[in-house]
Amino acid sequence: MNIILFGPPGAGKGTQAKFLIEKFKIIQISTGDILREEVKLKTDLGISAKNIMDNGDLVPDEIIMSIVEKRLAEPDCKKGFILDGFPRTLNQALELEKILKVQNSEINKIIFIDVDEDILIERITTRALETSNIREDDNSTILKNRIKIYKKDTKPVLDFYKNMKKLVTVNGMMSIEDVSKAIVKLLWFI
Ligand code: ADP
Repeated sequence: MNIILFGPPGAGKGTQAKFLIEKFKIIQISTGDILREEVKLKTDLGISAKNIMDNGDLVPDEIIMSIVEKRLAEPDCKKGFILDGFPRTLNQALELEKILKVQNSEINKIIFIDVDEDILIERITTRALETSNIREDDNSTILKNRIKIYKKDTKPVLDFYKNMKKLVTVNGMMSIEDVSKAIVKLLWFI
């Protein structure tokens, strides 16, 4: 089972991914987590990505695709994976199709976690206030930029998968447990 968790910043993709990897014993590939690790290790990639991430902009597709291509080639992906935070542009989605085709694999479903914009802002502001978990990209100016970019560059990805009849939507404004239950129900048929 290969799935994409899709949604705006603060939709709860990371939280739901953690639940799903336990439940279905598949792995999670989060481009955001991989990038943050590179930043922490101060690799060349991390150094060039840091400012872009801190501003809430998108890291160039070529960098993202090289990360994802390398990760998808690892044997643990064979049993299934959850993509979280990727694809974030139409070009990334098209490139992903090419990689999977070569591997004789495909995306089974894309799960859109739908959350209203005012709720997103509230959630991320709260996350930024939790001192134990400060992310430099969680402040309100940058958040507005991230939401703007989401609408402009990332939302078109939804239509791409909708046309392929792979898109399913869950209401991301329910409790964490109820969102998890709704996702499990949707995946039952794969
Ligand atoms: P979110 O809080 O929206 O889940 P992520 O942790 O997925 O954020 O990503 C953090 C930052 O890393 C993004 O704002 C962006 O700068 C960069 N990033 C992560 N994934 C991608 C991607 N697929 N394409 C471009 N940039 C990305």
